[in-house]
This record gives sequence, structure tokens and C-alpha cells, in this order.
Amino acid sequence: MAKINCIGILTSGGDAPGMNAAIRAVTRAAIYNGLSVKGIYRGYKGLVTGEIKEFKSQNVSNIIQQGGTILKTARCKEFTTPEGRKIAYDNMKAEGIDALVVIGGDGSLTGARVFAEEYDVPCIGLPGTIDNDLYGTDTTIGYDTALNTILDAVDKIRDTATSHERLFFVEVMGRDAGFLALNGAIASGAEAAIIPEFSTDVDQLEDFIKNGFRKSKNSSIVLVAESELTGGAMHYAERVKKEYPEYDVRVTILGHLQRGGSPTAHDRILASRLGAAAIDAIMDGQRNVMVGVHHDEIVYVPFNKAIKNDKPIKKELVNVLRALSI
Ligand code: ADP
Repeated sequence: MAKINCIGILTSGGDAPGMNAAIRAVTRAAIYNGLSVKGIYRGYKGLVTGEIKEFKSQNVSNIIQQGGTILKTARCKEFTTPEGRKIAYDNMKAEGIDALVVIGGDGSLTGARVFAEEYDVPCIGLPGTIDNDLYGTDTTIGYDTALNTILDAVDKIRDTATSHERLFFVEVMGRDAGFLALNGAIASGAEAAIIPEFSTDVDQLEDFIKNGFRKSKNSSIVLVAESELTGGAMHYAERVKKEYPEYDVRVTILGHLQRGGSPTAHDRILASRLGAAAIDAIMDGQRNVMVGVHHDEIVYVPFNKAIKNDKPIKKELVNVLRALSI
């Protein structure tokens, strides 16, 4: 196997708080191990356009606490074509980059897998997404921060919901995964969560809300995962409004504020551990794996598994929410 002297690092797809902490960790761990580092800007786009710059230790100073990504992120259509990936490979070689560390979600790791297969380039993936939807790691970089942002928002919504005795549908991100909605609901004391993993009948939901709302509660909050499978918060609000016009129903879509902000301690530590472990993997000759944490131990998950397997949501969490929201 060819010796690796220089690694390239990029962030791709949806941004997540903690990506900067991961960039810092990868860069510093690489330099510590005698490798040189090149930062690739705007995800795969930077590989295609050659937006690449040498990174020293100082380039990643004072970023561990910053949300977003100093490398920027983008979606790159060209990289999904063989022609685009050929240009990317040629640029990579011209820059002397021997291996790639890709920080991103499902799509970004799919790109890394395809590229690695096509050009025999060692690629290591770090799970960077607020959605927590990558199989094989207990949490992903950015998830904990987004969850805490949701709590902060829902706590505030609770104040106004209680004052006006309203029913709020709060839409949170997560794409087709319900981790943010379900755990956000448990942690904020919400009355219910509508998530794609478990179908929710609107009448059941209404029964449940009616009991809680009328019996003992003077506000109700339901967290809804944004997925097309749930139809989103607006969809549920419209249906409840139509069938029960006596309810004062409101919708809040939290949107992109969930992606921003300074990463929590959990995300900074996770990103630091995963970044260092990515370099360990490269030094050990591993390739085409996503680095994760399972039971507080570093694990290396083949791309295929991380991308293709669905990460299950524990039924126990659904039961906890149901029991505690009476
Ligand atoms: P995320 O990483 O947040 O899931 P996307 O799904 O938008 O984000 O993917 C990010 C980028 O990864 C895409 O813009 C594209 O450049 C690359 N990518 C995704 N899927 C593939 C694929 N099948 N082949 C090659 N590149 C891909």
C-alpha cells in the first residue's frame, strides 16, 4: 500500500455544529503524526475546482467553539458524475493528497464510497449531521447541539402556549429520522412526537391531545419531524383544526436555527475523538470506513453499513414519552 504523506479534509452536505471541532482534530492529529494537511473548500466542489489550501496547526486555532464550518460546505452535482470525479482525482493527485477525510452525512459518505471504489483512494468518513441518521455510531457530530437548541426553543414556546392555552405543533429537522423529534419531545416534556419511524394516526393523536389538553393541561406541544413521511407540522395542524375547530392551534417551524450555534461539550468531545481516530485509522492502513462511537468506544464502520443500514429508534423511547406525557 502506498505511503500516505498528505491528507485532504473536506466538509460536505448539510452543515452541523461541531464540524469545526472535527476539522481541528483531524488537522492537529495529522500534523502530530507527521502528515501534512490540505483543506478542501466547499466539499467535493473544491476538489473539482481545485479550491485547496495547505493547513498548518494555526489554521485551526480558535475554531473549536464555532458553529458552521470554516471549510464551507456545498452540494456538488458534478461529483456525482464519473467525469466530475475524474477531475477531482486529477486535482487531488496534483496537490499531492494521498487520502481523504470527509465530514458529512449520508450523501457525503456515499460520495466518498463511490470515489474510493473508483480510484482506489483511501477515504475515512466522519458522521457530521444533526439528523443522527448514520448507522453504527451512537450519535453524530452536531446532533446533541441541535437537540439542545430545540429544547431552548420549545421551553420558550411552552411559556406562550401555557399563557394562551394553545396547542402547538413544532416542526423540527431530521429528514427521515425521528431522533431530534422524539428525544426533543422527551427532554422538553412535550405531549407527543410525530416521527417517520412510527406511523401516527391523526385520530389517535387527537384523542390523546384531547385527554391531556382538556383534563389537566393548559397547553400541549407536539414535536413533528419534518419528513415527507409525516407530512410536517402544517399538515397535522390543518387536520386537527378542521376536525376540532375549538382548539387554538399554532405551528412553529424551527428551521435552520437548529443547524447553528456553538457546539455543546458533547459534540466538541465527540468531534475531537472522531477526528483523532480518523488519523489513527489512516496510520493503521484502514480505508473506506466511517469512524463512530459505540458504547463509548471508537468503532470503524464500513461505508456500506453506515450508509445503507437504517439506524433504529428504540421503542422504549416512544413508550417513555407516552408514559410521561399523561
Ligand atoms: P449529506 O452529506 O448532508 O447527506 P447530500 O446528500 O446533499 O448531503 O450529499 C452531499 C454531496 O455528496 C452531494 O452534493 C454530492 O456531491 C455527494 N454525493 C452524494 N451522493 C453521491 C453519489 N451517489 N455519488 C457521488 N457523490 C455523491
